[in-house]
Amino acid sequence: MKIYTSSLLAGLSLNLFIHSAYGAFSIDLQFNNEFGAQYQSAFTEAVTFWESIIIDYRFNSPLLDGININATLATNDGPGGVLGSASPSGYVYGNVLLNGDVNPSDVLWAVDGSMTFDIEDVDTLINNGTFSALIQHEMAHVIGLGTVWNLFDSDTATVYNPVLSAANQYTGIHALTAYQNEFDPTATFIPIEEEGGLGTAGRHWNEVENGAELTGITDPEGQDIAFELMTGWLNEPTFVSETTIAQFKDIGYDVIPEPGSLVMILLATSSTVGIRRFFRI
Ligand SMILES: [Zn+2]
Repeated sequence: MKIYTSSLLAGLSLNLFIHSAYGAFSIDLQFNNEFGAQYQSAFTEAVTFWESIIIDYRFNSPLLDGININATLATNDGPGGVLGSASPSGYVYGNVLLNGDVNPSDVLWAVDGSMTFDIEDVDTLINNGTFSALIQHEMAHVIGLGTVWNLFDSDTATVYNPVLSAANQYTGIHALTAYQNEFDPTATFIPIEEEGGLGTAGRHWNEVENGAELTGITDPEGQDIAFELMTGWLNEPTFVSETTIAQFKDIGYDVIPEPGSLVMILLATSSTVGIRRFFRI
């Protein structure tokens, strides 16, 4: 059952989905095409990954018991270029105290969304070992990273998921604290991507020179943030920062408390193929 609430959030295709029971966070994946077994295993890996990181909602509602994600293989722009895109399409609303604020925040949790992958890139990505990282990246967008930040309802002047204090400045407290610990102790905000055009700008951690150069911003292990999963360009070997994981806490999810060691284990099989191509949401 789907209730369309156009009066609440015009222009964002807000939908409320009625679920039957309370439940912790989980991902329900549907394939819209015939996906070979070699493809499906990469999707299953991505589902397992995010379900191991995001464990629950920071809000109790019978409407929140997981997210439905449709995956599609389609032709797009030929080999290279845009590899995949993703976005949420249905949300559940809650007014909840998050992020150390004095007053509750207006929060939208994605409960429905889709990912599309360029059929002319997938075999290449599988062969060079980057397809799992691409799926993890797009799945994070469906769940909310970059896609639900500061959603604005002009009718009521409501800002949902307020984590940006200015254009391309992320100040959600959990991710910012993680970023200060990992990358830059003096940061007062996390810089958000300004380049790459629609779908890349404003929705990823920042890289420089359209992804063509290292940023010089490194974690304690010397990993440049250009290799982080949720920047706008795919660089291998990919790693998932605690900043990315803490971001989900800022937008209303419970995450595992000390994820670093788990992430390192899960990503230990990353290849070292160096490619730089556009992501897009
Ligand atoms: Zn992206």
